[in-house]
Amino acid sequence: GAAPAKATTQFISIASGGQQGIYYPTAIQFQNIFNASISGVSVNVETTGGSLANARLLGKGEADLATMQNDIAYYATRGELMFDAPISNLRGVTSLYPEVCHLVALRSSGITSVADLAGRKVSIGAPGSGTEQNARQILEAYGLTPDDLGLTERLKNTEASDKLQDGHIEAAFLTYGIGAAILQSISETIDVVFIALEEDKIASMIEKYPYYTRTEIPADAYQGMTAPAPTVSVVAWLVARAGLEADQVYQMTRLIFESLETLHGPGAPARLKAISLETALDGLSIELHPGAERFYDEKGLAP
Ligand code: GLU
Repeated sequence: GAAPAKATTQFISIASGGQQGIYYPTAIQFQNIFNASISGVSVNVETTGGSLANARLLGKGEADLATMQNDIAYYATRGELMFDAPISNLRGVTSLYPEVCHLVALRSSGITSVADLAGRKVSIGAPGSGTEQNARQILEAYGLTPDDLGLTERLKNTEASDKLQDGHIEAAFLTYGIGAAILQSISETIDVVFIALEEDKIASMIEKYPYYTRTEIPADAYQGMTAPAPTVSVVAWLVARAGLEADQVYQMTRLIFESLETLHGPGAPARLKAISLETALDGLSIELHPGAERFYDEKGLAP
């Protein structure tokens, strides 16, 4: 008789973020959902520096899916700012949750505004992070560049925490969903303040850059806060490379929305409660993947 068909496993890689962020545990949720329900695939999750690193990995075909800030996906697609050339294969799958530009400073530093960062020791985000681009744009709104800082570090989030702790840096930019483990841990173990952006600076950033929204970090979000901290936010997305098959991305999109009970449950990051069909296209800044688009068309959602 005929030889049995040889089972081949397709490896799917999801580029995520650093330890103690929300991208990494989010990608683990998708990994579990896809591995359990799509036969013949084996999904693995990569830790990375964050949004920029992920855009580049998708661009080179070294990852298939990635979590990414919508502003960074937009700049990557257009080849703007920190991207020397367009990355043309980024396609949206679903909006995930808002990510907020946090700026924490040691209380003992006396820093109370971004304007005070001139001459100070600051981490502007990990290499490959979206955080770094947000930090540059926030500094710019205050007429500053990283050159105006006393010391500019590009630290992974856990390093930023350690170096705040030992006073090597006085402040750190961190673009994360509110409540990310890294921010909880900083606020619980180090005496820090959450720096508010002034309203005119927020307005100028929104005016200049299309994907910022005014947001407040609520006063009860972190230990030690006494008042809400106004700032800007962007939106985290799940992005696929264009070459991933439409049928497969359709199936993945459908599985995500069939798994909301799990994604909204106690085993998943709390931010994932924001995933819903109603908000699936929030902050869309690039083309949708045709597989995702087919799913949304069926649901009567049009971008
Ligand atoms: N938004 C962050 C970045 O790209 C990563 C957030 C996370 O890991 O949860 O810099």
